[in-house]
Amino acid sequence: MVKFKKLSKARGITIPKDIAAHLDIDAGTAVDLTAADGKLIVTKHVDTCRFCGSVENVKQFSDVFVCPICAARLYKEVCD
Ligand SMILES: [Zn+2]
Repeated sequence: MVKFKKLSKARGITIPKDIAAHLDIDAGTAVDLTAADGKLIVTKHVDTCRFCGSVENVKQFSDVFVCPICAARLYKEVCD
């Protein structure tokens, strides 16, 4: 599925309805943007540990997402 779009002045694009439906995303859905091999990849956002990149049991603390292993390491570093 390829669609031609021009970026707005703020470099934004509107994702066509059929592509949004195909990806199961809608207005307000958080997405991750990845640049790879000259392409822009848009995927549904997945909470990822800021420190190790894990997506397992990640929780948000303030503005940071952290996995239990890194949370335990942080606790030990800060509180021990
Ligand atoms: Zn982690």
